[in-house]
Amino acid sequence: MIRLSERSLSLPPSAAMEIDARARELKALGGDVISFCVGEPDLPMPEEASAAAVEAVRRGDMKYTYAAGMPEMRQAVCAALLRDTGVSYAPENVAVTDGAKFAGYAAVLAVCDPGDEVILPSPYWTSYLHFTRLAGAVPVVVPCSPENGFRLTAEQLEKAVTPRTKALILNNPGNPTGAMYSEGELRSLCGKALELGVTVIADEIYSAYTYGAPFVSAASLGEEFRDNTVLVNGLSKNYAMTGWRLGYLAAPAPVIRAVTAMLSHTTGCPGTVAQRAAIAALLGDQKAAKEMAEEFRTRKELICRLASEAGLRFREPEGAFYLFADVREYGPDAVRFASGLLEKKQVAVLPCDDFGAPGYVRLSYTLPRSRIREGMERIAAYLKELKNG
Ligand code: PLP
Repeated sequence: MIRLSERSLSLPPSAAMEIDARARELKALGGDVISFCVGEPDLPMPEEASAAAVEAVRRGDMKYTYAAGMPEMRQAVCAALLRDTGVSYAPENVAVTDGAKFAGYAAVLAVCDPGDEVILPSPYWTSYLHFTRLAGAVPVVVPCSPENGFRLTAEQLEKAVTPRTKALILNNPGNPTGAMYSEGELRSLCGKALELGVTVIADEIYSAYTYGAPFVSAASLGEEFRDNTVLVNGLSKNYAMTGWRLGYLAAPAPVIRAVTAMLSHTTGCPGTVAQRAAIAALLGDQKAAKEMAEEFRTRKELICRLASEAGLRFREPEGAFYLFADVREYGPDAVRFASGLLEKKQVAVLPCDDFGAPGYVRLSYTLPRSRIREGMERIAAYLKELKNG
């Protein structure tokens, strides 16, 4: 019998995945399931990106590239970062990876030795916890209160830091909370990280989706901030290119050299055709991306209105495309809440136990407005039934 490693066995099955699997099962059985589970834009990717991919295939442009991505791709990332965040990077500051998830993992691997600590403001995106552990580092979860908009403060960071602390993973705007940091908050928090010698791994994958104040990148606060930041981003969310698996890191050159060495021995290089598509998306007219951001803004207004009418408790999202709802008034177990909703009303929402937020559920509004309306009607009926016992 093959003996599995402790490392692989330490990864728990996800409750969220179980809800998703059951939703798929019900759908396959012919059910009219409305799923708010998946964090994946439903709108089309930019046409120029698909055209560039087709052209690359036609040309036979599909051999290995450099481990950190082809030079044109790294250049395109620099141009896009300058346009979208105002931060200036050179290609030697960029490594392209198979999705932003791997970029985050590579950042932790590059910065942490086994036993080093990584601070995770909670609620957090569940993969942070697990890839930090896979890297042999120790996640230190710091709960962030709803009263402070689920944001970490400089004081909280200072209290959590020990001589073993290496990094802070800062997801802004945040999954699952939709919380966003103002420039002042970011300056205070990242300034404290700088002062304490803690690297900021800034995952800004949702930066295209903001609903109030404009987005401010952690790397844009000044040169010393940029040089203490490993920026993580990608094409999955802002260009609806989840399946193309393209993400990237931007950081000081020594970090990128370390990451490049790791990539060269693990993933090899990002996909060639995907890079061609990504270059076209990054350098294109941004029309599809802007339209998508506009559509998510409209949906956010819609879902917030319907959720308040249904009596759901939530904080209005400031960014990303998630509604984060507190369902503790219906019982302490959000998995039970979500299973009941799925079985009774065929609506799937994500319980956030795996995100460090038991008692909360996440609704991704990456589905057409008509489905959002129908889904929220069913949720309203479910809440009424729960209230009436
Ligand atoms: N970072 C955050 C915060 C996410 O929520 C996700 C996807 O859900 C990712 C990264 C992963 O992006 P990718 O699909 O490019 O790996």
